[in-house]
Amino acid sequence: MKLPLYMDYNATTPVDPRVVETMVPYFCEIFGNASSSNHKFGWEAQEAVSKARKQVADLIGARASEIIFTSGSTESNNISVKSVAEVYSEKGNHIITCLTEHKAILETCEYLESRGFNVTYLNTDETGLIDLNELAESFTDKTILVSLMTGNNEIGTIQPIEEIGNLCKERGVIFHSDATQSVGKIPLNVDTTGIDLMSISAHKFYGPKGIGALYVRSKNPRVKITRQTHGGSQEKGMRSGTLNVPGIVGLGKACEISTEEMDTEMKRQIKFRDKMIDEFLKMENVHLNGHRTNRLPNNVNLSFAYTDSESILAEMKDIAVSTGSACTSASLSPSHVLTAIGRNNELARSAIRISFGRFTTEEEIDYTIRRVTETVEQIRQQSQIYKMAKDGLI
Ligand SMILES: *Cc1c(COP(=O)(O)O)cnc(C)c1O
Repeated sequence: MKLPLYMDYNATTPVDPRVVETMVPYFCEIFGNASSSNHKFGWEAQEAVSKARKQVADLIGARASEIIFTSGSTESNNISVKSVAEVYSEKGNHIITCLTEHKAILETCEYLESRGFNVTYLNTDETGLIDLNELAESFTDKTILVSLMTGNNEIGTIQPIEEIGNLCKERGVIFHSDATQSVGKIPLNVDTTGIDLMSISAHKFYGPKGIGALYVRSKNPRVKITRQTHGGSQEKGMRSGTLNVPGIVGLGKACEISTEEMDTEMKRQIKFRDKMIDEFLKMENVHLNGHRTNRLPNNVNLSFAYTDSESILAEMKDIAVSTGSACTSASLSPSHVLTAIGRNNELARSAIRISFGRFTTEEEIDYTIRRVTETVEQIRQQSQIYKMAKDGLI
């Protein structure tokens, strides 16, 4: 076992060596510009891009023509929300999303609010699930978009996507889902879920960083998006810029591997997840953040009362875990997701996210359980408040 252990797969994953191997020829040998249509160098690159487009589409039950390559989910989220706001502004100016979404959605929505759009931010219950009745009641005749993520990056909770899709369908409202943490990990089909726009990022499932995709439904309904980047008309004009051919090839291969290995890998990780959760919940004053079963296979998030996550990390340098989400760890305010599910400051500040994946072994899971348990106990031993609570003084 090599230390430090990487237990932060929800932040990013190592690239699968099979993905790297597939990408390598596209740097020095097959280096053409996929837009060069008058020579072999361009044709070869174009062919590789077409193959990858099909691999991405196959993973989510889409058509290749419905996939647009982007730089990742931040961009796919931005294109989705801004495009729908722009194209459908004649129909209305109301957007529905949720307080536990990724910042790439929340900040885009705040930006649109500053431009005159109305946004409803749904609450969740304490497990992070939205209330379908609250969603149903939030629609108005001005609603043009519902944007709700599939699996949450911090607490792992998986929303009832099919039911959300149905509610949107019944009302003719476009449904975008940030599926960044779910694609390649759990079965996800654009037709059974009714997702019209889906954000995908390669580096969350063993592909390279800086490449991703946006699925755009072409039938029932045909969803229209607008260019947010102007230029050379790549990707049907919807996302200009020379294609990142090696990245696209890597994303395609990552999708192909996930398509083949998802079933076994999902079961293996759920076993790890449940073992970890069961073991930690045997300790006193430990709270699971997120839903117990409607949960990403590779995510564990717990609050250890009478500790704080910064101290746990400082004492446990042999394991890389996260406090809140990677994107907010630079700021000291508690995670917006933990706040949204009703965790008070103390519990939000004692939360750790442990996330693992394809290259994690059972030995590493056991090591993590042991080290986190030891560290929490050690910190509690030194805590006056813990002592007083134990003695019934507070
Ligand atoms: C990582 C992540 C993003 C951002 O994706 P990038 O490809 O890194 O821009 C967006 N949403 C969720 C849920 C994520 O986990």
